Amino acid sequence: MRLLLVEDEKELANALMAALSKQGIVIDHAMRLADAGELSRQNTYDVILLDRRLPDGEGLTFIPTLRRAAVLTPVIVLTARNDPKERIEGLDGGADDYLGKPFRVDELMARVRAVLRRPASVVEALIVVGRMTIDPLNLTVTMDKSPFDLPRRELLVLIALAKRQGKTVLRSVLEAAVYNYEEEIKSNALDAHISRLRKRLADCSAGVSVHNIRGVGYLLKDEV
Ligand code: CA
Repeated sequence: MRLLLVEDEKELANALMAALSKQGIVIDHAMRLADAGELSRQNTYDVILLDRRLPDGEGLTFIPTLRRAAVLTPVIVLTARNDPKERIEGLDGGADDYLGKPFRVDELMARVRAVLRRPASVVEALIVVGRMTIDPLNLTVTMDKSPFDLPRRELLVLIALAKRQGKTVLRSVLEAAVYNYEEEIKSNALDAHISRLRKRLADCSAGVSVHNIRGVGYLLKDEV
């Protein structure tokens, strides 16, 4: 089994690596998101353990980056133990599970085994919303079985919204779905993509509506 640990706390990382390598688990360690991205492109991991507060950004932004690259590796987010808000954000951000710090290595391993038992097909499933069928892995949309072409960023926003249709998707999650962490994001860029997407969807009566949840994010509703 090979794990990727993305964690900037050296002591925790070293202790974990020592404990896991004793059990014969290969564990690669990244201190920063940029290094984690590089490692995940070079290697195939069974599970990724992801801290949230990292020197070069919010750990949760890594999950959409992985999924866009068709990496379906389960992600366990490491959160502050007594913070339900963090756990909710982690799960809503696409994590497969979370673990509060500090944690026991045997609990971590039990959670690793649990996520490995789940089928990976959840991420690959087609999403049907309104008159559209969205393939999030191949980044295609069909409208009543004909291809429906969208500019890339609008497509990525649509997929991020469709994956959680009927629920509010945080601005940070949408931005992470559209931009990689090397890109600079202009403050109103997301709203501009959404407004163009909304118009396009209305023009062809796609059977969905996009709602602005002020200051929080956006929500896609199936109107069919
Ligand atoms: Ca940290």
